[in-house]
Amino acid sequence: MYYMTHIKDNLAAVELQISKACQLANRSIDEVCLLAVSKTKPVTLIEQAYAAGQRAFGESYIQEAIEKTHQLSHLTDIQWHFIGPIQSNKTRHLAEHFSWVHSVDRAKIITRLNEHRSSQDTPLNICLQVNISEENSKSGIKVNELAELAQQVDKCEHLTLRGLMAIPKKHDSLASFQKMSELFNELKQQYSTVDTLSMGMSDDLNDAIANGSTMVRIGTAIFGARE
Ligand SMILES: *Cc1c(COP(=O)(O)O)cnc(C)c1O
Repeated sequence: MYYMTHIKDNLAAVELQISKACQLANRSIDEVCLLAVSKTKPVTLIEQAYAAGQRAFGESYIQEAIEKTHQLSHLTDIQWHFIGPIQSNKTRHLAEHFSWVHSVDRAKIITRLNEHRSSQDTPLNICLQVNISEENSKSGIKVNELAELAQQVDKCEHLTLRGLMAIPKKHDSLASFQKMSELFNELKQQYSTVDTLSMGMSDDLNDAIANGSTMVRIGTAIFGARE
């Protein structure tokens, strides 16, 4: 029971922080969704966040995500978002059990997600991950690959292009958020389905919201530090 209030209080505090950031940025709070990032955390904590009203959850590790989606399959209105690196042999599970994939970064993954998504389901929501800080080690596309991959997603019958995702480096996050905001606005003008700029984590959600984020991905501030 201790944890019950704990998670609920954390969620309320994060929601308050989001609403303050929106106020400062002169934006409506309806423009920013909260994605609760539950990677490495047990399903009991997800259930507590669910009981407090949270529905959108983000996972980063495919094997763990597979187990959790099975364990929580009774929560039929939970919305699973995949935000981690994608191995191409794991696309079937993502296509079958997830509502969103934020970390799409190559043509092969787009093709496979489209093939594996059933026509019975609503189209899978796709964000292209941009390696905005141009780190060699990080996943994500280069800015000059964006136009072609966006067009590929847009042509896929079982996918919907929703927008862009980024994980900027700490020291240049402000400049990166600004660049992402420009790319997002350009993409939005080209594709009517684009409405999502997935950026901002526990430490930088204020700056992200000030720069147009429409979905913040929050782990630590809701579920506590990870090991
Ligand atoms: C882990 C993770 C987060 C959450 O980070 P916190 O700092 O714990 O809020 C957000 N986005 C991605 C892609 C992640 O892997």
